Amino acid sequence: VSWDGPRALSSAPRQGRARGTHALIAGLHQDAGRSPIAAGTACAQLSRPRLTSSILLRPVPCQGEPRSSEQPARAAGRDAMATAKTESIKVVARCRPISEQEASQGHASVVAVRGTDTLTVGPDKAFQLDAAFGPDSRQDAVFSNVARPIVDAVLDGYNGTIFAYGQTGSGKTFTMEGAEDAPGIMPRAFEYLAERTAQAADTAEYVVYLSFLELYNEVIRDLLVKGGVKQQASNKLEVKETREKGIFVAGVGAHGGAG
Ligand code: ADP
Ligand code: MG
Repeated sequence: VSWDGPRALSSAPRQGRARGTHALIAGLHQDAGRSPIAAGTACAQLSRPRLTSSILLRPVPCQGEPRSSEQPARAAGRDAMATAKTESIKVVARCRPISEQEASQGHASVVAVRGTDTLTVGPDKAFQLDAAFGPDSRQDAVFSNVARPIVDAVLDGYNGTIFAYGQTGSGKTFTMEGAEDAPGIMPRAFEYLAERTAQAADTAEYVVYLSFLELYNEVIRDLLVKGGVKQQASNKLEVKETREKGIFVAGVGAHGGAG
């Protein structure tokens, strides 16, 4: 089992799919300004031999408007995250609560979650996603619905990527890393991975490799080399593409082993 995030991620735009994520979040920027924001979390679960299709962004009618037959309601909502194995890319939004400072300055939220999968922006825009999490959503719910199915798929031998996108302050770090008393997707995923591989220790041998990259201002760094957090030539990496390997980060450290 290899944890092949960067490669899987870079495959997504080739299928012309990741653009939808960008469009959604770009739309939110325009409408929401700097205050109440949704963090977009695109979950790519890439299956072999090819990606199956999925629609990333479906505008849906707002309250009061009849739903047209071209925009059927998706009844499944959040449960679809765990069960719809036919869709390889899922897009989820999470709105963080308004901060005390924003509230004290008189800001109000312009984004809201309707049902389990619809995000509204202002009074007359609504987007249907694979799931939408509101300001009261808990870290464990986000993990169970969004990340655990991907870790399960990784243990079945698929590549999996969880990609968080959103402007500064929208809640990416909180969702992915979390706080000490509210761990996010990353610590929960590692704990779950350890739990699942330990459970199967009698019947299977897993080989887990871990790479940790930073992509910031178009510069990629390996954060697991000594002094990797500092900006220096020795940890600078490049994205390459070959016919055999597709798109990959050349020379990235893979740490780990069998267990
Ligand atoms: P980003 O990494 O996208 O720049 P942060 O994760 O740092 O944003 O979030 C900005 C602030 O909002 C932080 O103080 C964080 O603790 C808080 N925050 C973000 N998401 C939530 C949430 N779902 N519930 C409570 N607080 C949140
Ligand atoms: Mg951050």
